[in-house]
Amino acid sequence: MYLRTIERKTPVLKKPAFGCLKGTPSINLTRGCLHACVYCYARAFPETPDREVWLYANLSEKLKAEIQRLKLRGKLPATVTFSTASDLFQPHPEIKRLALEVLRLVLSAGLRVSFLTKGFIPEEAWALFADYPSLIKPRIGLVSVSRDYHRLFEPRTAPPPVRLAQLERLVALGLNPSVRVDPVIPGLTDQEEALEALFRRLSLVGAKEVSVSYLVLRPGVIRQMARELPNKIFGPILKYYKGQPWQKVITSATTKLAKRAVREEGFRRIKDIASHFGLTVRICGCKNPDFPFEACTPWEIESFSPELPLFQN
Ligand code: SF4
Repeated sequence: MYLRTIERKTPVLKKPAFGCLKGTPSINLTRGCLHACVYCYARAFPETPDREVWLYANLSEKLKAEIQRLKLRGKLPATVTFSTASDLFQPHPEIKRLALEVLRLVLSAGLRVSFLTKGFIPEEAWALFADYPSLIKPRIGLVSVSRDYHRLFEPRTAPPPVRLAQLERLVALGLNPSVRVDPVIPGLTDQEEALEALFRRLSLVGAKEVSVSYLVLRPGVIRQMARELPNKIFGPILKYYKGQPWQKVITSATTKLAKRAVREEGFRRIKDIASHFGLTVRICGCKNPDFPFEACTPWEIESFSPELPLFQN
């Protein structure tokens, strides 16, 4: 994939208008993501470039100006997140440089930061985490510890042993990292043996908290998975979605959820195995609108600072 630099015209601190992160500004360093996971919903957005990733060259400059402006108006948000439509720690020196610059900017402005990554966390970021431990809420994405899963579904991300080592280091820093087990692949990563292997390792590195959700299918995601996965792997996955209606989930009106009975049984199994290893599980409410709502935000909404109100709607 090719990295191109472009100028960002719109504001950097954008409020997602959906889900439990609604109202918390999120930052996107790039359009597209070098990890190119086969199931990635963001790759199927019409505005995502094909075979390219666009890096916003003027992002730090713009963000600095926005922070100053919001501070003057008394409207600086207490918390920002990094968008889940692109990974904060992608394997490219320019993206790494920008990620560190932006992290430094928001942390030195006193903002709390949450991020979700499947990438290699660079050494310089660890120094920042150690300097601002109370402002960081890290989340590590990890669905399976199987090498085959990694090779087939997310080969450009950091391998599971690296992510586990990073989790252990985050725990040692006292940052209370949570783990995002999403997308659970029905019939593959939700089987007892696979879940036991995952939760055993998570408990060994000291993780305590997990949020889960199953793979959701959209037309673009189906095309991309059909193209990039062997038939013998993708064919059996599709049967868990057969006959399911297209429905609105989060922002997309054409989403298929795995059959309810499959998710129900899978979540029960996940909760049982996780609790056996001492981990608590939250089911992502946004991606399971037919289940009782459970929030899986990195920080609870009520913990936002009253002196630093979020943007007004
Ligand atoms: S790391 Fe996240 S944003 Fe990047 S391709 Fe994978 S799923 Fe998409």
